[in-house]
Amino acid sequence: MDRKKTVLVVVAHADDMEFLAGGTVARFIDEKGYDVYEHILTDNSKGSFSLSPEELIEQSAREAVEAAETLGLKEVRLEGYPDGLLNETHPNVLREKIMAFIREVKADIVMSWDPFAPCEDHPDHRTVAMATFEAASFSAMPLYHPEHPDPPHMVTEAYWFAKCPWNAECFVDISSTIDKKLDALLKHETQMALTLEGLRREAEILGADASLFADQTAEGCRRIMEMGVRDFCAKKGAEAGIAAAEQFRYEKLGMLDMLLNTDLIKADF
Ligand SMILES: [Zn+2]
Repeated sequence: MDRKKTVLVVVAHADDMEFLAGGTVARFIDEKGYDVYEHILTDNSKGSFSLSPEELIEQSAREAVEAAETLGLKEVRLEGYPDGLLNETHPNVLREKIMAFIREVKADIVMSWDPFAPCEDHPDHRTVAMATFEAASFSAMPLYHPEHPDPPHMVTEAYWFAKCPWNAECFVDISSTIDKKLDALLKHETQMALTLEGLRREAEILGADASLFADQTAEGCRRIMEMGVRDFCAKKGAEAGIAAAEQFRYEKLGMLDMLLNTDLIKADF
């Protein structure tokens, strides 16, 4: 019988996980029986064309919990650092927070933004990516934060996602979980409205038919997001000959398999 693993997803914003890894997270939980935790570092206070930062912080936190419940996560932890300004917090502070969570839940797998992906425009994504990479790489070292209540713990695998994937040859078939991914994603009503309004404004600027994005009710959001997400995942899948996929750069973090030429760390996909 395969070993049951624990997964920690570390992101900058409330909807990052659902957009890029929601179907894979659902497979970890539903098929493998793994425990999955989510660490959201910012307060999501910049993602709206209509709400105030205060309204957004409160609503997005509620939506994150609802989305996590939809997927069946064990816990979602919000750190509340100001959105868009994560790089103003010292990288070692962020690394320590993530390392503490890794040790607390004994994470075998981390999932996050790819620290080395090109073309990443969002500073929060770049920042959380590197902090997660460092935290996962050094959480087994006892002289890093010996004050932590939980003992050092080794992370063995990482799934890195990106807007512009780099060396990302792991295509996870999410045909069986794409509906759940969409259900979770659509819990983020504030972010779906942001996406739709952004598209409407872009269409206006480019002289395209903006009426496609005019209906910003929950129904209107579902229709457009469903179309966009299914199309996006189908295009990813086409690269690997499957119907719907999420794409990752998969990395084994230990050295033993490389040294002994073994396969002790077993990838799930
Ligand atoms: Zn984000």
